[in-house]
Amino acid sequence: MNILVIILIFVLGVIFGSFFNVVGYRIPKGLSIVRPGSFCPKCHHDLKWYELIPIFSYLFLRGKCSYCHQKISPIYPIVELVTGLLFLIAYLLFGFSTNFLIAIITESLLMIVIVSDINYLVIPDEVTIFFCILIFIVKLVTSGIRTAGLALLSGLALFLLMYLIMQLGNFLFKKESLGGGDVKLMFFVGITIGPLLGIFCIFLSSIIALPLSLLVYLKDEGNVIPFGPFILLAALIIILFKIDVSMLLNIFA
Ligand SMILES: [Zn+2]
Repeated sequence: MNILVIILIFVLGVIFGSFFNVVGYRIPKGLSIVRPGSFCPKCHHDLKWYELIPIFSYLFLRGKCSYCHQKISPIYPIVELVTGLLFLIAYLLFGFSTNFLIAIITESLLMIVIVSDINYLVIPDEVTIFFCILIFIVKLVTSGIRTAGLALLSGLALFLLMYLIMQLGNFLFKKESLGGGDVKLMFFVGITIGPLLGIFCIFLSSIIALPLSLLVYLKDEGNVIPFGPFILLAALIIILFKIDVSMLLNIFA
């Protein structure tokens, strides 16, 4: 593998990560993602070019805004770095292929959802819809209309299943168990990995989220943790480890 391509993929991931910060921060607030340029979320001072370099600016500014000296959330450089690493992993595993595209699309949605769900406990519909369309186009171009159509049906089936789980949860616990955004996210999961792996994804995300949920619950019963990132993290694990239906049948048989 060409070292130059590897570096390029990483840098591209970091730059995308920087953009995902903007998307995750602004879309839920109804702000434009193009204008104005980046500003400090605390004092709204416009940032200069040297304050906009992903990762490096954060280190150089020592995590503080140079105008109001308030702390900048470490989420931003972490999202940049992790997006770069995830894009790199996808390339190292799959090379330039359909799987690579599906992996980086899922990674991108995961990063945006992390930013918006942690900041606002919201997953914007337009973001979920945009990424569903991206996956649909990839399936349509690489596998044809039949596969793409079936993927769409899988998305719908999983969405309905999660909707029922939510209604059941609301009925049993007499309070909101899942957010509407989490339910819509299952449409993305279904269209991306299909219905059976999608069901496994619900199961896997619950297992990953359980320790953290317990910790948060023990600290303060009123606290909730956003579930969306766990759903997408589970989906990404399934994609990166190439878990397929026959593997699952072997485990559970
Ligand atoms: Zn500031």
